[in-house]
Amino acid sequence: MDHFLYRNGTLHAEGVAIPDIAATVGTPFYVYSTATLTRHYRLFTDALAPLPHLVCFAIKSLSNVAVLKTLGNLGAGMDVVSGGEYLRAKAAGVPGERIVFSGVGKTREEMRLALTGGIRQFNVESEPELRALSEVATSLGLTAPITIRVNPDVDARTHEKIATGKKENKFGIPIARASEVYAEAAALPGLQVVGIDVHIGSQLTELEPFEQAYLKVADLTRRLRSEGHTITRLDLGGGLGIPYTRSNEAPPLPTDYGALIKRTVGDLGCEIEIEPGRLISGNAGLLVASVIYIKNGEGRDFLILDAAMNDLVRPSMYGAHHDIVTVAEPPVAAPTQEFDVVGPVCETGDTFARGRELPLVAEGDLIAFRSAGAYGAVMASEYNTRPLVPEVLVNGDHFAVIRERPTFDEILRRDTIPPWL
Ligand SMILES: *Cc1c(COP(=O)(O)O)cnc(C)c1O
Repeated sequence: MDHFLYRNGTLHAEGVAIPDIAATVGTPFYVYSTATLTRHYRLFTDALAPLPHLVCFAIKSLSNVAVLKTLGNLGAGMDVVSGGEYLRAKAAGVPGERIVFSGVGKTREEMRLALTGGIRQFNVESEPELRALSEVATSLGLTAPITIRVNPDVDARTHEKIATGKKENKFGIPIARASEVYAEAAALPGLQVVGIDVHIGSQLTELEPFEQAYLKVADLTRRLRSEGHTITRLDLGGGLGIPYTRSNEAPPLPTDYGALIKRTVGDLGCEIEIEPGRLISGNAGLLVASVIYIKNGEGRDFLILDAAMNDLVRPSMYGAHHDIVTVAEPPVAAPTQEFDVVGPVCETGDTFARGRELPLVAEGDLIAFRSAGAYGAVMASEYNTRPLVPEVLVNGDHFAVIRERPTFDEILRRDTIPPWL
């Protein structure tokens, strides 16, 4: 459920008409709904109660500081995968004790940044990383709380580019080697083992792979405890999928996911952390664009938008589907037309949808991509020197621009000419 609905014939974000935002900021733009972000965050906290838990929003899915502040103010923790994301979490006012640091390639500089700024835990992904973190923490006279990310070798049955829990993926240490690696961690100075971490992939549409992974984590918890380790926290990762089409079978609900967590690891006396990104942010955002031209081709018609693959790369990168709707509500049983929906970028890959059935549209009309909040703006670029797409946050009847569209002057000023030219 989200808060993007038609009212009086016009698509609204909560109480704000989309054309009013378009008139102020121009198109294309992303718009996010505070009520939807809040609702999705609360679904997870409700699903995990009464277990002690922390819901750490995966910043990489939607990293605007205003969004992070919205969630942080509700008590959310943050899952960061870079020093930059760590600084975003801090800029949003989230204290270090609610920030977990994930990722396979943390640099020593990033470790220093998080250790000195305060961190809940590092989710360590390899033995070389353990040794580096031990060195950095020792040199600062600090102790780094850690979990070790284990790779449970389960098939998440999702897109190959976002499956992370099979043994051939680059993530974590093989679960079979956990005893050995935990023993090494316990022996290294400057590290304090606090728990276990697992994250098997993104856009999972079934609960079964989570169940397999979490049962393995439960076994591992008992084994590591019997080997003398203190395991007080289980970080179970993110990855719960969202419906990208309204006709689709619905993916599992956070309540069922919460029940699964309780069933598999709820009796271990551990604090539970989860790292959802997409399920909180995905359906909380739209990408709004204008129709530039309608071009009649041979055997197909093209809807050419002012948004392109540089603004929303998921269709071109993952073959992802986004529902596309007109901002003006189509009359019931209105005629439709099939379009290839494309952007202006000079690549055939710049295609959002082929043969998509849409209501009749005209040049200048506004359209919206639904479910664009996650992995949308964060993956945008300025390819073709198209200014980075702006972001807007709606809260009830108000909206604010939370990232402005850069001017061409600003874009050009970032390039500098060497002295020999
Ligand atoms: C990407 C990622 C997440 C979030 O995944 P979603 O599918 O957006 O929920 C959580 N944890 C880690 C370690 C990740 O890499």
